[in-house]
Amino acid sequence: MTVRFDDRVAIVTGAGAGLGRTHALLLASRGAKVVVNDPGGSVDGTGGANAVADKVVAEIREAGGEAVASYASVADEAAAASIIQTAMDKWGRVDALVCNAGILRDKAFNNMSMEDYVFVNQVHHFGTAFCVKAAWPVMRKQQYGRIVVTTSSSGTVGNFGQANYGAAKMAVNGLINVLRLEGAKYNIRCNAISPSAYTRMTEALLPPDIAPWMKPELVSPMVAWLCSEECDQNGEIFAASAGNFARVQYFATEGVQFDPAEPVSIEMIRDSLGKIRDLGTARPYTGLFGMVVEKLRAMGRIK
Ligand code: NAD
Repeated sequence: MTVRFDDRVAIVTGAGAGLGRTHALLLASRGAKVVVNDPGGSVDGTGGANAVADKVVAEIREAGGEAVASYASVADEAAAASIIQTAMDKWGRVDALVCNAGILRDKAFNNMSMEDYVFVNQVHHFGTAFCVKAAWPVMRKQQYGRIVVTTSSSGTVGNFGQANYGAAKMAVNGLINVLRLEGAKYNIRCNAISPSAYTRMTEALLPPDIAPWMKPELVSPMVAWLCSEECDQNGEIFAASAGNFARVQYFATEGVQFDPAEPVSIEMIRDSLGKIRDLGTARPYTGLFGMVVEKLRAMGRIK
């Protein structure tokens, strides 16, 4: 059956351009009522223009869909709450929240001002948390919600000149890892998209033979899936780019287990690095209550 969003309300932040725009257009084309949030502004987050969000709202309406504009910045807690309030005032619910808004202030860390470090985190990390915080009680009350945050390979893998951005993009993964647990019993699912697409943010970076394939609309179907009622994924990260879709997951190697009753020397670490680092033994990382407990039990240190 076709995936539809009739009677569903979706909010897309940063929906005036690039990926946010195509997310909003796709959701609206499948029946969602959409808050198109965007204060406008340049890639570094300065300036602003209402016309940016208005244009996407007009596109949706011309295609027969329903949309309303919000010009608030996600970077300010009260303004971010007003984005959720816009949906509540107009339609009385929030079914899906796509935290997509973003800026760049790239520089090698040595030359990066802490002002630029903080501001990039204010938009990507806190901007996501502010929106989720305002939507959370609404979704809990509804016993339904779909949240998609936007991460990046600049965080999961790293990218020269993006210390502020990489850190902020990893922060949102930490947020959903926890919220997937806290929201589960309220039927709230929290997932992340790790996109790559040709937008004004990446136009200077992408090689000309690759750029034409990196269409933003090729990322949006995964985002829309994660916003759907049918979506049962929770706390997962999906990479999407040029028609390629994949899951991103943390792994841990089998490693070594020393007896915790005995001291561990630096040399024991050095001499075990081959085993510690052997990705051939890797399996999904489950944290403290997974592997360590399993190993201590295997060696008889715990029951
Ligand atoms: P874009 O610059 O085309 O769009 C970002 C939009 O966010 C803009 O319209 C901008 O006005 C808006 N925005 C900026 N600050 C805002 C704020 N404070 N409040 C609300 N809206 C704000 O860039 P894009 O490539 O479409 O990026 C979308 C998201 O995807 C970003 O979070 C970005 O970091 C992420 N991302 C993009 C790529 C890529 O390859 N394009 C890769 C990894 C992650």
